Amino acid sequence: MFWLLALSLLLLIFGGLALARSTRLRQESGLPAGRLIYADSADWRPVQQPFYSKTYQLIGKPDYLVETAAGVVPVEVKSSAAPKIPYLGHLLQLAAYCLLIEETTGQSPPHGLLKYANALYEVDFSPELRRELLETMAHLRQARLAKSVARSHQQPGKCAACGFYDRCEEALGR
Ligand code: SF4
Repeated sequence: MFWLLALSLLLLIFGGLALARSTRLRQESGLPAGRLIYADSADWRPVQQPFYSKTYQLIGKPDYLVETAAGVVPVEVKSSAAPKIPYLGHLLQLAAYCLLIEETTGQSPPHGLLKYANALYEVDFSPELRRELLETMAHLRQARLAKSVARSHQQPGKCAACGFYDRCEEALGR
């Protein structure tokens, strides 16, 4: 079960790794910024079981799925207010769910939905986002083999909520 734990951690640490790279990536990679939309959440189905991909050694559970004319779409809900454009970590988490749905159903979702407290973004599961997801996963796997990995952020709140806080030599806020 260790690998399951380790791989589910991939999703948790997307945020930290991604934040450090977000500015450059926004400028260079053409990642989708997302479109502000309205959608009726009455059609959203809560997800009971996590999705698992043996190919990508990935596991994760979106908050909801919704059937659209273009296929099944994942919904990730954030309790925070919407940023001007979705954070890269949130995009990658949504992309991971798209990849898991693709692996499970054989159909690639055209997009995912990111629901913030005050806004809903529709984010294309574009080739650029898929490539960034796969590269990020490869980096994370490499980092797991390294003896030590440098902190990738300056957010004491993130460290305070981290399960490694007591043991981490780079923890902020102590
Ligand atoms: S405590 Fe360490 S591992 Fe956890 S978020 Fe902070 S720097 Fe990263």
